[in-house]
Amino acid sequence: MNNENMMQEAVTANDEPPPSNEEPATTTQLSSTPGTATPPQPRQSPKWNDWRWQIRNRIRTYKELTDFFPSLRSNAGIARVAEKYPMAITPYYASLIKSTDLSDPVYQMSVPQGQELLAPDFLHADPLEEEEDMPVPGLVHRYRDRALLMATTMCSMYCRHCTRKRVAGYQESCIDVSQLNAITDYLRAHPEVKDVVISGGDPMTMSTSLLERILAAVRSVPSVDIIRIGTRVPVVMPQRITNELTTMLSKYHPVWINTHFNHPNEITPESAAACAKLANAGLPIGNQSVLLRGINDTPQVMEELCRALVKIRVRPYYLFQCDLVRGVEHFRTPISRGIEIMEYLRGRLSGLAIPTYVVDTPHGGGKIPVLPNYIISSSPSHTVLRNFEGMIMNYPEPMEPMPRTPPSTNARSGSPGVWEVAAGHSSAITPSGSHRQKRRAARKVQRGDTSQQHPEFNLLLESLMSEGGG
Ligand code: SF4
Repeated sequence: MNNENMMQEAVTANDEPPPSNEEPATTTQLSSTPGTATPPQPRQSPKWNDWRWQIRNRIRTYKELTDFFPSLRSNAGIARVAEKYPMAITPYYASLIKSTDLSDPVYQMSVPQGQELLAPDFLHADPLEEEEDMPVPGLVHRYRDRALLMATTMCSMYCRHCTRKRVAGYQESCIDVSQLNAITDYLRAHPEVKDVVISGGDPMTMSTSLLERILAAVRSVPSVDIIRIGTRVPVVMPQRITNELTTMLSKYHPVWINTHFNHPNEITPESAAACAKLANAGLPIGNQSVLLRGINDTPQVMEELCRALVKIRVRPYYLFQCDLVRGVEHFRTPISRGIEIMEYLRGRLSGLAIPTYVVDTPHGGGKIPVLPNYIISSSPSHTVLRNFEGMIMNYPEPMEPMPRTPPSTNARSGSPGVWEVAAGHSSAITPSGSHRQKRRAARKVQRGDTSQQHPEFNLLLESLMSEGGG
């Protein structure tokens, strides 16, 4: 394969039967009754179960949207928003819309809304600073043992709440051969990376043969233990989960799937069948929901979603607080709502069905789990805990004190974390560059004192000394 953009192949690859007698969805096929959102009729198409037909017939323009839902003809603002943030809705996902207004969660997640143009200055295109943690184009390396490979910018559906609104859908393209080579070279040079998440965009919009090339390249790196694939395809285009695809994926085990259900209405016979195919091929499935205002921000909806997920063998894995992404302000809830939901779920659902609620913090701080506080008090002799009912209990600690845990053998030198402080292997973590730290460093220079202190402090001291005493 030469160095040209692999997307060319993604569109034309003939690894799965091309749809015969291709017929574009027509207005007649797609239209619903004006003023309502009676599920449109393309399900009558003989091509309905062909994922390529679903991709080719995505709703991409305001005109196509209003052909589908004539009741939206008075809402020309949609076109303006879609110019800024691309729109794509598969016919399948559009058929799940029951009402073309904000009472419908599927509508809200797929149809552009005017509020996407709100741009308060605390929202950013890349709030997680993924681009800053990209040692080679297309690979985000933030956590020591994990990396995220952005395989494509294409998705079958452009979620209105997407964290990668900055890239998803502007140019539907995927990584080229030279990028993939650079990524695998990086992974070989960094054997501490044990877990590679193939994401995008949505990598399952690529042809099976192209996705296989990426999997084979990552699997060729001996130090990579597991591969995960981040995809919303089981939710928005379940027809993509073919036997051919799952057979290919199972050649590269251990492969895990992260999918993205947000609301019980997304769990249908089709999406359940797609998840069953993945699970039957030995691909464990975790779900990453986003907490979205007006969609799943009540404890009851979240309970229903989590219960329905475990029934289709999907483990609720994360519940994400909405990121500070430009274009999603109207979807955000306060963090307190997430804590309230977690308080409700504990005790009502088994631990298997309870996701970890996390805030993926700005400036690349990573995921921080947030949960209600269950520790009332503690002393060397006991810890006082409360349960979800409010019952308060004493847990007596062991009579014999515990020995200190040994230092980690792969500790990052010069970069202690909270565990090192808690376990007594480091005495402090000090923010560098504060006025107080600078004053203290300057005084040490004046005193001629260069004795050992905290590593970061000494770095600051060195920089001040090289500047001539600060
Ligand atoms: S499928 Fe994922 S990457 Fe694509 S638009 Fe939705 S959330 Fe964003």
